[in-house]
Amino acid sequence: MAKVVLEDLIKEYRGDSKEPFRAVKKINLEIRDREFMVLVGPSGCGKSTSLRMIAGLEEITDGTISIGDRVVNNVLPKDRDIAMVFQNYALYPHMTVFDNMAFGLKLMKYPKAEIKKRVDDAADILGLQTMLDRKPKALSGGQRQRVAVGRAIVRKPKVFLFDEPLSNLDAKMRVQMRTEISKLHARLNATMIYVTHDQVEAMTMGDRICVMKDGNIMQVDEPLGLYNTPK
Ligand code: ADP
Ligand code: ADP
Repeated sequence: MAKVVLEDLIKEYRGDSKEPFRAVKKINLEIRDREFMVLVGPSGCGKSTSLRMIAGLEEITDGTISIGDRVVNNVLPKDRDIAMVFQNYALYPHMTVFDNMAFGLKLMKYPKAEIKKRVDDAADILGLQTMLDRKPKALSGGQRQRVAVGRAIVRKPKVFLFDEPLSNLDAKMRVQMRTEISKLHARLNATMIYVTHDQVEAMTMGDRICVMKDGNIMQVDEPLGLYNTPK
């Protein structure tokens, strides 16, 4: 079971000014086990901050985050059973595709054979079998993003976090990767939380969609429910 529950979650950034800026204003949200939840809303509404708090990459100002049945407020990112896919891929340029995908597992001291099996499996799923010896610069944008997804898959997390993963791709590749990530969700049976400012992406990919504005949650519903809501 890996539901993700946000309770009275608050994030304040303290800049140079005396008043802290509240980027996330006491939100409550339950993401069900194996659900594909999209966080959508205009730039600056607090999507990425919320996701980064779930990942443990951003300190929580107040409130609680649970993953599975465990409160993770004080749990390190690596121990949260999550893997995150970033917008800018965050690949190591000097490493091959194989090594990029294997790196986290090597750090965690997985046996070589297990690492190879997991990377090969991920490469199969993502169509990267023939690219394993290449460096990122010899890949297209879509292929690079697949490697970034592969690096998340090999960890076998219960929860995948995506932060605008397709926004650096051209329109055609964006549509293709949308379908691929949806298929991946069906295949892996994992909980996925997906941040985007693209409403079409949200409507086509989400089991449910959480609409944010100015640090608040405005609405949480299935795509059809949202579509039929009178404005
Ligand atoms: P979104 O992902 O929806 O575009 P973010 O979560 O990135 O929004 O940002 C929410 C708000 O918090 C924005 O107003 C942004 O400027 C502010 N913010 C984000 N990161 C920081 C930071 N490190 N320091 C100060 N303010 C920040
Ligand atoms: P990076 O690849 O960002 O340098 P490392 O692989 O050095 O990160 O690992 C830093 C910590 O974060 C490790 O304990 C690792 O288990 C964890 N980690 C690595 N990649 C991911 C990811 N995609 N999602 C979540 N945690 C990760």
